[in-house]
Amino acid sequence: MMNELLGYEKGGPYPPDEYVRVNAGRLKTFVSEVFVKLGVPKEDADIVADNLVAADLRGVESHGVSRLRRYVDGIKIGAVKTRPNIKIVREGPAHALVDGDHGLGQPVAHRAMRLAIEKAKENFIGVVGVRNSNHYGIAGYYARMALNEDLIGISLTNSRPLVAHTGAIGKHIGTNPIAVAVPSEREPHFLLDMATSIVTIGAMEVAGRKGLEIPEGWAIDEKGEYTRDPEVVIKSGALLPLGGLGELFRGYKGYGLGVAVDVLCGVLTQSAWGKAVKNTTERYSNVGHFFVVINPGGFISIEEFKRSMETLKRELKSAKKHPKLGRIWIHGEKAWLTERYRIKHGIPIYVKTQEILKEVAEDLDLEPPF
Ligand code: NDP
Repeated sequence: MMNELLGYEKGGPYPPDEYVRVNAGRLKTFVSEVFVKLGVPKEDADIVADNLVAADLRGVESHGVSRLRRYVDGIKIGAVKTRPNIKIVREGPAHALVDGDHGLGQPVAHRAMRLAIEKAKENFIGVVGVRNSNHYGIAGYYARMALNEDLIGISLTNSRPLVAHTGAIGKHIGTNPIAVAVPSEREPHFLLDMATSIVTIGAMEVAGRKGLEIPEGWAIDEKGEYTRDPEVVIKSGALLPLGGLGELFRGYKGYGLGVAVDVLCGVLTQSAWGKAVKNTTERYSNVGHFFVVINPGGFISIEEFKRSMETLKRELKSAKKHPKLGRIWIHGEKAWLTERYRIKHGIPIYVKTQEILKEVAEDLDLEPPF
């Protein structure tokens, strides 16, 4: 299957004068060392490292190790606790509410997703909300945890305000991602992992670092006009919801999805929502998450379910192709191919991200990973 795509990598090319290839294991060890040095228990540091490197392995450059400085700063200024008292504040057989006590988002979310998985194995469904957490990286990381157990995983988080909802200017709601992972007989499994805005603020930061303009239609400036300058978006403008500006391409659908995520992650858990969600370096960000795990075995046999998913993927792939577009992809397929390639050949780290990692290493008296 897909032999012609074995060398595929998302987002390339990666010229060697701008990128250095780093072994994923080496990168993980370095990131974990950084957090241990800051006082995070090794087990939690390993989870953060695994989450950030998973983003880089899967081609999400905006949510990988390039964000390390921000997490480090959050801990240094006391906005993120290194040894939080994570606890379950309410619980039933199939649900729970977890308080993250302002710890790093990744270990908090990892624990909450594990709890949802255990509940789904017992009760066919597990629903866990999380309050008082922090930025948890890529949403798909947690949805994917369910796949190993033949379960469907859903992972949502809210984020600091970055999006102008339909009719508004300025940053009001988060880019509030949704991830859904579904097991099938063979990889790549369906893994939808998307912001509810057209693009993420991380994509603006990557474009800014590389001196690139963004396409018209992704974002607006402070007056509500389209801007192609990522720095304007970061400083004074706003991202647009999926569907874009106004009603022509139904921007209100992305707006509604973003609000729905805020309702589950913020309102329902009594974490922050909308403009009250803060950045990782502000005390406290009060990010909320929401995890749902469904056991297909509660409906049909797992074998039948996975076989049917295989059929669904095949049907989608074998549709008549649009003459002007490339191949038909399944969600998660590009990331899966990229991961396979990068496990073998290393992760391309951009020159400015190398500088960030070197600075962090120097700061903490550690060896950089390259
Ligand atoms: P993308 O727009 O890159 O991709 C969204 C989804 O579409 C992915 O599942 C992707 O699969 C799939 N896809 C891409 N191209 C095709 C295609 N041609 N046909 C079918 N499916 C396709 O993601 P975003 O920029 O929206 O989000 C990037 C990351 O940022 C996500 O991991 C998200 O969780 C994270 N994020 C985190 C936030 C936080 O606060 N923690 C906030 C917002 C986003 P594939 O993965 O295989 O490319």
